[in-house]
Amino acid sequence: MMKIINEDEIQELMTLRASRSEVREILQKGEEMKGLGLDDCAKLLSIQDSELLEMLFASAKKIKIAIYGPRIVLFAPLYCSNFCVNDCEYCAFHVRNQAPRKKLTLKEVREQVEILEAMGHKRLLLEFGEHPIENSIDYVVDVIKTIYATKEGQGEIRRVNVNIAATTVENYRRLKEAGIGTYQLFQETYHKPTYKKMHNGPKADYERQITALLKAFEAGIDDLGIGVLFGLYDFRFEVLALVQYAQFMDKILGVGPHTISVPRFQPAHTVNFDLKHQVSDQDFLKLIAVLRLAVPYTGMIISTRERPEIRRQAFAVGISQASAASRTEPGGYSGKKEQSAEGQFNLNDHRSLDEVVQDICRLGYLPSFCTTCYRVGRTGDVFMKLAKAGKIHQMCQPNALLTFKEYLLDYATPATRQIGERSILNHLNAIENLEAKDTLVRNLKNLEQGERDLYI
Ligand code: SAM
Ligand code: SF4
Repeated sequence: MMKIINEDEIQELMTLRASRSEVREILQKGEEMKGLGLDDCAKLLSIQDSELLEMLFASAKKIKIAIYGPRIVLFAPLYCSNFCVNDCEYCAFHVRNQAPRKKLTLKEVREQVEILEAMGHKRLLLEFGEHPIENSIDYVVDVIKTIYATKEGQGEIRRVNVNIAATTVENYRRLKEAGIGTYQLFQETYHKPTYKKMHNGPKADYERQITALLKAFEAGIDDLGIGVLFGLYDFRFEVLALVQYAQFMDKILGVGPHTISVPRFQPAHTVNFDLKHQVSDQDFLKLIAVLRLAVPYTGMIISTRERPEIRRQAFAVGISQASAASRTEPGGYSGKKEQSAEGQFNLNDHRSLDEVVQDICRLGYLPSFCTTCYRVGRTGDVFMKLAKAGKIHQMCQPNALLTFKEYLLDYATPATRQIGERSILNHLNAIENLEAKDTLVRNLKNLEQGERDLYI
């Protein structure tokens, strides 16, 4: 069996501390945007001093702007089924929860998608519990096909990312054929003893979980998303393990993770365990900043588990993608405004997509609904090569502006449209290449005249 995570090495690295001058040197190295070694990450994670922390945040911010510009890519999760055979300690969908289960019919999938499209969403992340019969691969593929076929007015979902339990190469091939974007799977915790304590059922197999992404890659899926559930074990261990896993992917697959998600544990119905490793807000921002320096070309995702204030701060130090207006119960988008007990966990950002978009503009960022890369084959190492050569920016920025313009034309409230149009002008003015700017201005006009789905 391959050893992907070296727990002893990580535990030893966690004892490292850095002097002020060492921190300065590491940050300088980080700003070269070639990534950082594990020892440097461990030293940055040990920072307690507020002045050094501010320096870390400033470096992370520089890298974020240099690679991702002002863009924040928006998406929504779609919970399709909460049937699950596992008994994960932390999740309300665990078998011990006696509440009735719900699985969307394809008609209900269509209804949920129409609601999401009417908000302006173009990217979805599908979520399923693990259930070989209820959530069979045939069902998952039917859901994906239904989503892509649901087009109402100007609405359409152009990228479906998927988060299903670890499965076989054969099943991953089916997902690839159905046209998924990223396949995400979180290790939850890389710390084996904790993993054992937290899981019961097929997911309790640590090896199955940690090798699943390799199987997905073998099946041809080369945009892979990793993550841990922060709060299960020491966040410093988890960050170092994430970086070690990313380095392993790079070495073995020739492509690092497409995204890293940073979910933090949230209270949930029927979930009750001794939370010894809760991550404070400050440590949460610190770990995002360290990841930004460690793996600069990997997108980072924040969800509505986090409060708006934390999301805003996280955008500054490294987050490039965010969910908005999410519900975590199957069928939740047609439900009432309050959270229901059928959700997977409690959420802390209850704003509408329009409110989130407006907030992002006010902060000086640019909301993006872009889905171009995987539709034109810029995935895996093709994407990474462009990103590392600094070229992806030239495509992402115009595409972000075009998809944001579509949003403003088709879905925004008048107040958001006004702020958004101003924001588009500001971002346009920052484009130095006159030829590129001209093409973009022409395309923005074409959108005003009714054309849609324009990208480069
Ligand atoms: N069932 C699949 C699996 O376990 O891989 C799909 C993922 S589940 C629907 C999505 C993610 O939610 C989990 O991987 C876990 O990290 C996260 N999650 C579960 N319970 C949570 C909680 N109480 N607070 C925050 N995130 C939670
Ligand atoms: Fe099931 Fe996934 Fe929740 Fe575990 S985390 S109980 S596998 S839905």
